[in-house]
Amino acid sequence: MEILQAINPITGDVIEEYQRSHPEEVTKAVINSRRSFENWKKISIDKRIKYLKAIRNNIMDHLDEYATIVSEDTGKVLTESLMSDILPTLEFIRYYEKNTENFLKPKKRDTPFGFQGGKSSITYQPLGVIGIISPWNFPFQLSMIPLITALAAGNTVVIKASNETPTIGALIERIMIEAGLPQGVVQVVQGGRDVVSALIEAKPNKIFFTGSVSTGKKIMEQASKHLIPVELELGGKDPMIVLKDANIDRAVEGAMYGGFANTGQVCISVERLYLQESIAEEFIKKLKYRVNKLNIGPGKNDDIGAMTTSDQILHVQKQIHNAVKMGARLETPIKIEKNFFHPVILTEATHDMEIMTEETFGPVLPIMTFQTPEEGIRLANDSDYGLNASIWTKDTKLGEKIAKELITGNVMINDVLKNVGNPDLPFGGTKNSGIGKYHGPEGLYNFSLETSVMVNKGKNNKEVNWFPYSEEKYEGLKELLKTLNEDQNIIKKGGALLKVAKRLKKMN
Ligand code: NAD
Repeated sequence: MEILQAINPITGDVIEEYQRSHPEEVTKAVINSRRSFENWKKISIDKRIKYLKAIRNNIMDHLDEYATIVSEDTGKVLTESLMSDILPTLEFIRYYEKNTENFLKPKKRDTPFGFQGGKSSITYQPLGVIGIISPWNFPFQLSMIPLITALAAGNTVVIKASNETPTIGALIERIMIEAGLPQGVVQVVQGGRDVVSALIEAKPNKIFFTGSVSTGKKIMEQASKHLIPVELELGGKDPMIVLKDANIDRAVEGAMYGGFANTGQVCISVERLYLQESIAEEFIKKLKYRVNKLNIGPGKNDDIGAMTTSDQILHVQKQIHNAVKMGARLETPIKIEKNFFHPVILTEATHDMEIMTEETFGPVLPIMTFQTPEEGIRLANDSDYGLNASIWTKDTKLGEKIAKELITGNVMINDVLKNVGNPDLPFGGTKNSGIGKYHGPEGLYNFSLETSVMVNKGKNNKEVNWFPYSEEKYEGLKELLKTLNEDQNIIKKGGALLKVAKRLKKMN
């Protein structure tokens, strides 16, 4: 079908219809992007930052309108659109406005003694055209944050928002026009896998993908044929470990927020809840009480919005049913009204169940207990994923010690989800959760060509290591090697090195 429909998950109404991009249009967009890059890369960082600011001001001028667009296309409650899509986007723009100039300054590096007179540094240039492919769960921030980072580093962008949330693609196009970005610097293409495939075949300089593990693998496979570097921000199965000394009331609230925010459709949702045995009963009782108080619905005073796609509802239902069949206990009933999926607590889960091993991406908290912190760590690490994790204890020193033992890209102690919103902290997963980091200075460097530069003033006609070789040179180099590797007093060593350097210089 040529037409892509944006559907409101709550009403089922068609919000808007868009033309899917033809593969030839995608190719043209990349060619156009490459052309625009030639000018964009020459613009000073200061000027690039002014464009970022114009984008930020445009968002600030339309807060309610943009939050409503996000909510209508995803079914999430308005507060979550504002807090989890719009707010982080603004935070990251401000962060890169403030820091890009400094981050992209050449960085001095050491030069070894043997490379006498040399000067070393790393410089940062833009890569070129970046292809960004984003998902539907936080369609605005997961498109906008990589986009503005790529722009700040001096790249041009061709972006494909999720086919489930095409209004976001259209919104990005509008923002770029209204913010006055030069033509071709950001281009939006619409559609699904054909469009992604055409985008990769047009050979952008990097692909930045956020989405599921299975799609990530397909994209990496196709990109590998052209050796296009890929950054993959994929799914998670995040553990929350609650130790017996934790502030239980806070941990209950945290589990509920971590498991059910955005109706559980968060890559870093709490998807496995591990409770130390001695507090489990009290914890579960309190959790059930609090979950029953949550408001489910589309209003401003509701906590849990709709799920975005019916496929996702079926997937979550299937995982719950299979877990129950294998012995898990439902602590809250399964209740689905249209796309509103009431939060589910499951106890007596085991690692034999898919609900503890595969991403759920819905409002479910499956619970297991453990005896010792070591057992909690072992259970948390027993996963194919490694995106985020949380540890709950009043002993934050112990929490930090446990954090070092978890195989994960990101950890929080006594909180959930928030770490992804810290612009200065690099974010990304390990194992099946992805490859690469963005956010922070690392985010900018990952959209840059890092060139290592070594400078020699070029005064001497020859270098010691150049031709001709001789027995004398061999002996001199051997002495240099020995002196460099001897463990001795630094002053003595310095003197010896100067002596041998002089001897070698004479051989030139
Ligand atoms: P998805 O993989 O289905 O789709 C992501 C993007 O890829 C969309 O733009 C989609 O149109 C495109 N796509 C889908 N199938 C494709 C194919 N066969 N070939 C090429 N492109 C294809 O993911 P989703 O359902 O949109 O998003 C949910 C997933 O994203 C979850 O697994 C979630 O954990 C993950 N996610 C990860 C992060 C992170 O930062 N690590 C953040 C948000 C979401």
